[in-house]
Formats: sequence, structure tokens, C-alpha cells
Amino acid sequence: MKNRIYLDYAATSPMLPEVLEAMMPYLTGSFGNPSGVYATGREARKAVEQARRQAAEFLGAEPSEILFTSGGTESDNMAIRGAMLAAAEKGRHLITDAIEHHAVLHTCEALEKQGFEATYLQPDREGVIAPESVRKAIREDTVLISVMTVNNEIGTVEPVAEIGRIAREAGAVFHTDAVQAAGMMRLDVRQTGADLMSLSAHKFHGPKGIGCLYVRRGTRLDGILSGGAQERGLRPGTENVAAIVGMGAAMEIARRDMDAALARIRRLRDRLITRVLSDVPDSFLNGPEPDAAGEKRAANNAHFSFAGIDGEALLLRLDLAGIAASAGSACTAGSMEASHVLKAVGLDDGRIRSGIRLTLGRETTEEEIDQASAAIAAIVADLRRMRG
Ligand SMILES: *Cc1c(COP(=O)(O)O)cnc(C)c1O
Repeated sequence: MKNRIYLDYAATSPMLPEVLEAMMPYLTGSFGNPSGVYATGREARKAVEQARRQAAEFLGAEPSEILFTSGGTESDNMAIRGAMLAAAEKGRHLITDAIEHHAVLHTCEALEKQGFEATYLQPDREGVIAPESVRKAIREDTVLISVMTVNNEIGTVEPVAEIGRIAREAGAVFHTDAVQAAGMMRLDVRQTGADLMSLSAHKFHGPKGIGCLYVRRGTRLDGILSGGAQERGLRPGTENVAAIVGMGAAMEIARRDMDAALARIRRLRDRLITRVLSDVPDSFLNGPEPDAAGEKRAANNAHFSFAGIDGEALLLRLDLAGIAASAGSACTAGSMEASHVLKAVGLDDGRIRSGIRLTLGRETTEEEIDQASAAIAAIVADLRRMRG
């Protein structure tokens, strides 16, 4: 079989063997409902609460501040809808920005249709949301500010600690979608000042369909589902025990391996950027300059444009060569809709049309990076030749 090179870790990541191993007992013998009073139910409950402690450790939170959800999308919905509904008598205004994931943007748009008001802040060319623009947008009736920790397309690290301080001063709830940050930087809700933080396990080697929402104690939040008393009644429904256990294990591993993994990933990412920019004429890096501290750009993200190239055509050719990359967000892949992120950072049509995202992970090797950059150079040259 031709070797396959996976460079789309921002879309999803493979589950680690240790994660599956931790999950197995809860898919087999310990299958009980955590609400059950008998032994197998109690085993499941114990496992769920152990995972809650692991999630709390991962985020610098208390276990009681962790709610399990079905993933990043649900966490974003729950945070934004829940906070707005809970404070509807105080105000109906929220502040977010134009480069959020669709899980945030489409939720805000849906709320607008229900009579809420949203302000969408514009980023600078590197994708940074200026804290000062947040401050200026705050109104008397602002309930919520939602700005992501790391952008999923161009890897921008947002100044969330500063935005968190501004939100606190204004008495607004601060939510951050930290789905792309988990495993790529140390997360600490005390430092970020986030009242609500969304995570998704499959982005850091956990199972798909499981995530959590951090809810700072005292934050007013309405549930968006009704049903049983699980997750303090805020997220009713029988817990996905095995997946919850898997996410806990993935968090533990991410915490343990973070420093070594990040140093490796960053070195390989920098190698990829250097190779592509030097080997492909008229190529551009989109997003912030990579920095050694990872304070400006996520360690695993590279995003390029190539003059005169159709990004979709390039992706198809890369796929034929066994290389998995992405045209930005997975939600727009396969459709011709231009990336809202690349538009918002002010790229021209040619740069948007030719944009491709390559995201690395812990399994990425130097050989893969060299093969991928050589393939990109050859395919771009070929596509340009065909165009004449
Ligand atoms: C992947 C992603 C999501 C959605 O997470 P799911 O668990 O796939 O629903 C939300 N926000 C960002 C920034 C993401 O990258």
C-alpha cells in the first residue's frame, strides 16, 4: 500500500491506543448506567467522575465546573444559547468576531433571528481580534463575549487573557472556543479568565462525539435540552461513559506529553513552512508569523496560498499522492464557498481560492514533511504548466 501522509490534525486526530484501552471496559463488562444503584452502574459513575477530575486538572478548574457534551459544536451552542437565555432580562446583546467556527457563528445568527443582537468584530490581517475593539463594542446590555482561543484555519492565537479581563470589568460572561488550543498549549481557565470554555476530544486524540464545557462556578447558564438530571440537569441524557473515559485519558496523555510533543511538532511545522516557501515560487504563508513561544500561532498550523492555483484542484492532486490536507474548515470542504476566515483577514480572491491548510500532529515525521513539501512543489508546478 502506498504510504499515506495525514496533515489534517485540525480536522480530527487518530485515537491513541491507550485511549481505546481505557475505554474498552465501559464498552463491554462495565456497561451499566451511571445512574444505576447496582455495582456495574456504580463502576460507570466512578469512571465518569474520574474523567471529570482529569478534565478539571487539564483546565485548572474544579471537577464541579466540568459538563460533558457531545463535542465542540454542542459546547459552543450550550455556552452561547445558555448564557444568552439565562440573562435575557438583563440584556440581549453579544459580542463575537467574524472568524469564529461555524458552531459559534451560526449559533449567534440563529439567536439574532430570535431577537438577540450580535456584534461581529473584524480581525487584523493576521487574524488577531484586538482587545480594544472588544472594549469599544461593549454596551449596557452586553451579556456575553465569545472569542476563540485558537483559530482553526490560520492558527491565530487570540489575546483571550486580555479579553477575559475586559469582559470581567464589564460584567459580561466570557466564552472561548478552545477546541483547537487543547493539546497545542497549556490551558488554564484561571489565567484566561474564561467563564465558559469549549473543548472537543477528537481534536486531541480522544474519541469523536465527546467534549466538555467548562462552566465557572456562579456563571448563569440555562440548559438547551430538557430531560433527566444528568450533568446537573444542564445536559440531560445517559452519559456516553466510554467516550467520557476516553476523553479523560486523552487529556491525561496530552498533559503528560505536551512539552515534548509541541517542541517536535513546532520544529516540523517550521521545516514545512521553510521548504514550501523556498521551493514553490509565488507561495505565501497566511496567518501570523510562527513564533517559538507559540504565543502568536498554534504550533501545528501552516496555511499557504499559491498564485494562480485552485486550492480544490491542489487538494485532489495531493489526495491522489496519498496526502491529506484541507482547504480550511472541514465544513466548507467539498463546497465552493470561500472561507469566511480568509475573507475576513482581507486576503484577495486569488489567495483565498488557492488557500490550503496543513496541520501536524504527534505522529507526523520529518520524512512525511519532506515528502509533502516536495509533492506540493511538483503539483503546483504541474497545475501552473497545465494552465499554460
Ligand atoms: C472542530 C471544531 C469545532 C467543532 O467540534 P466538534 O467536536 O467536531 O463538534 C468547534 N470549534 C472549533 C474551533 C473547531 O476546530
